[in-house]
Amino acid sequence: MVVVVPSKKSRILHRQPNAELPMAFMGDGPYIIDDNGKRYIDASGGAAVSCLGHSNTRVRQAIKDQVDNIAFAHTSFFTSKPAEDLADFLVEHSPQGLDYAYLVSGGSEAVESALKLARQYFIELGQDSRKYFIARRQSYHGNTLGALAVGGNLWRKQQFAPILVDTEHVSPCYAYRDQKSDESELDYGLRIANELEQRIESLGAKNVIAFVAEPIVGATSGVLTPVPGYFKRIREICDQHGILLILDEVMCGMGRTGSLFACEQEQVSADILCVAKGLGAGYQAIGAMLLSDKIYNTITDGSGFFQHGHTYQAHATACAAALAVQQEIQDNNLIDNVQNMGLKLQSALLSQFGNHPNIGDIRGRGLFWGIELVADRVTKKPLDPKLKVHSAIKTAAMNEGLICYPGGGTIDGKQGNHILLAPPFIINEKHVTEIVDKLARAIDTALV
Ligand code: PMP
Repeated sequence: MVVVVPSKKSRILHRQPNAELPMAFMGDGPYIIDDNGKRYIDASGGAAVSCLGHSNTRVRQAIKDQVDNIAFAHTSFFTSKPAEDLADFLVEHSPQGLDYAYLVSGGSEAVESALKLARQYFIELGQDSRKYFIARRQSYHGNTLGALAVGGNLWRKQQFAPILVDTEHVSPCYAYRDQKSDESELDYGLRIANELEQRIESLGAKNVIAFVAEPIVGATSGVLTPVPGYFKRIREICDQHGILLILDEVMCGMGRTGSLFACEQEQVSADILCVAKGLGAGYQAIGAMLLSDKIYNTITDGSGFFQHGHTYQAHATACAAALAVQQEIQDNNLIDNVQNMGLKLQSALLSQFGNHPNIGDIRGRGLFWGIELVADRVTKKPLDPKLKVHSAIKTAAMNEGLICYPGGGTIDGKQGNHILLAPPFIINEKHVTEIVDKLARAIDTALV
């Protein structure tokens, strides 16, 4: 049944105030159906959230059951079974050394909590002078002021610069643009990682709190995958200089890249690790920060003065939804499907776009892919960001019935435009073909 809602002027302050948005009406696996009955294959999960697709029966039931019992009880007074079970799941499946979970309502809250927790840890150790975070250019860590400060997207933060925590930024691992022709992947990774060491030394290690990075950069740069060895060297540098490593897996975590946590593939763990998006798959707003027992013990054995907190942290219904999402993924071996369909998607993208004059790079892992658009694939000259080709592709794709996630801007004056694909873990080969065919038509339309 399709209900047609009469159009009226929206009273919502939308993120694109003047855009005319279709109304999402219902979900059907990997498809979103709007109020006119048009079907869109959701190849972005907006962005990298809807890993189970839409309207999953088990998750819907889990939410109903929890609301029937109790929807919410404030964590100053109660814990809840879904929250305890979700924390157990996360800790049991997390990379080594992450022994506790702090449950929040989204990615920015998880990152914000991580930044404050890291500073609190050093305060408990009597090291109050530590005030710097080091992060990477072309990264995204959220839109609250702390998360925005560590993010490396200059365009997003320039107007807020005077009121942001001072953060130092080093290069991301961006082999397509920055690896020299006579340099091996390993040497490139070490060179880029060593920038962190130089920066720590110039700031003075005893003034630095943590290094913050996405294992695979998502939103700002169209899926930047690290070269082998890069993160191992990063971990070594953090340990040698006694600073914490905060990994932000808000976008790339929870199975998206073919392992539950993206950092597993780098063979490194974090002192604090943030997840969100795929954790609740969009059924409820949820995020989590995982922390090592070294940090947990210091905070709880210290003054116990940990003032951070949010009203909706460890929200019972959100936790019940996330738990059902994660059980559904485990019971149906969906991370195996991420690996298998990831390979299909990779080969379909390469055969469709491998020689396209305006596509410079196709990169990713699992079901997390970035397509970098260029003016000239031989010279790698970026497209003029003012042309906003990525936005034109998004519009053309919506017309085709495809949702893909565009990104672009003027970061470092280097990045042009990209398209990010992050389809649900439940897709099959037919969906892969549909995504790539529709994307090819959208790119052709946008580039005319
Ligand atoms: N970190 C990363 C890596 C992200 O991609 C995002 C969201 N795109 C965030 C943090 C912020 O998450 P949220 O939008 O849920 O606050």
